[in-house]
Amino acid sequence: MADKAYLDWPFLEPRHRALESELDAWAAAHLGDTHGAGGAADVDAACRALVRRLGEAGWLRHAVGGVRYGGAGEALDTRALCLIRETLARHDGLADFAFAMQGLGSGAISLFGSPAQQAHYLPRVARGEAIAAFALSEPQAGSDVAAMACAAVRDGEHYVLDGEKTWISNGGIADFYVVFARTGEAPGARGISAFIVDADAPGLSIAERIDVIAPHPLARLRFDACRVPAGALVGAAGQGFKVAMATLDVFRTSVAAAALGFARRALDEALARATSRTMFGQTLAGFQLTQAKLAQMATGIDAAALLTYRAAWLRDSGNKVTKEAAMAKMTATETAQQVIDAAVQMFGGQGVVSGAPVECLYREIRALRIYEGATEVQQLIIARELLRALPNGE
Ligand SMILES: Cc1cc2nc3c(=O)[nH]c(=O)nc-3n(C[C@H](O)[C@H](O)[C@H](O)COP(=O)(O)OP(=O)(O)OC[C@H]3O[C@@H](n4cnc5c(N)ncnc54)[C@H](O)[C@@H]3O)c2cc1C
Repeated sequence: MADKAYLDWPFLEPRHRALESELDAWAAAHLGDTHGAGGAADVDAACRALVRRLGEAGWLRHAVGGVRYGGAGEALDTRALCLIRETLARHDGLADFAFAMQGLGSGAISLFGSPAQQAHYLPRVARGEAIAAFALSEPQAGSDVAAMACAAVRDGEHYVLDGEKTWISNGGIADFYVVFARTGEAPGARGISAFIVDADAPGLSIAERIDVIAPHPLARLRFDACRVPAGALVGAAGQGFKVAMATLDVFRTSVAAAALGFARRALDEALARATSRTMFGQTLAGFQLTQAKLAQMATGIDAAALLTYRAAWLRDSGNKVTKEAAMAKMTATETAQQVIDAAVQMFGGQGVVSGAPVECLYREIRALRIYEGATEVQQLIIARELLRALPNGE
């Protein structure tokens, strides 16, 4: 049973505590446990079903902004996003993924979309009737986003997209993609725009499906003279980088929360194992070496949680959180990797059996240290913000 003392921290309000408790009960009753089932056999079908169920139960309302568009509130509530991701991740990695992608995939529309775009897409995302995706990365532009080559050229009342996107979560099952492409208003990051591209847009195809260590729908997309109406532009032309970064500022903190959920589950598993496994005439938990490990795990989790909920609270209070979100994402994902590794170690041989909960967590956590900005990228962001804040800022 997870330690829930953090819910009393001053970063959270009573409505957040109620949300966590309701979702935890719902997840326990309704989610298959993919940390223990070795993953779903048909990951596409499992994801589609999860999106539908999360929508029907009302949880996806928290993934979009605007009450009139089906959102739980007018603005995205970062603390609610974090609590939901943390809770779902503790129960089921795929459910967390399904929830997170509805938010990340539609985040640009919630934050920068026109009323017409918001009315068309957000209610269906919130009900789980349309699956969303966020298409930023390219084969030659991952960490270095500004190196993107995918181009969009204005042609009368349309834009024509040519190029590729890769590592796109929900690629192959999404109903629409928010795609970032070079429109050339200025060099580098200032010449990028964001577009909503429906999955059936002529010229958009799935070039490749990609299998990863913790199965999720993932694909490389190809755009060949893909024509979208000019009204598909999200925000102003040339503002795409700002749109992408503002979206990531919200969801980066929620990646930290998902990592926390995985880490908390690993600690629960480790505690159960350490108190039940006997060797050399006592339980594993009776050894000081084990106690030291448990202490490190619990302290790391609390430190990561403090950074995560600080970043979420700061953003909900109207502050810019570029540095704080990067600190949270870096610390929570790196800590979770260590916590999960320690849990696997305590399980001995059982820890590496395919389908064992800690083995699934070991695979689930790895990509979180890479996507939405690898740890090294977070370090650069934190240092840049520190240097910028100096009186003669660099
Ligand atoms: C499971 C998964 C899901 C994803 N989902 C999406 C999605 O939905 N949408 C999307 O647009 N993208 C998605 N991505 C892409 C992800 O954001 C990129 O993989 C990530 O940005 C890293 O880019 P890259 O893979 O090209 O690695 P590279 O940019 O080649 O970086 C490789 C490594 O270099 C190191 N590095 C980077 N910068 C520096 C530096 N300045 N100094 C030193 N070392 C550095 C880091 O360790 C990094 O991991 C996903 C990726 C994965 C694995």
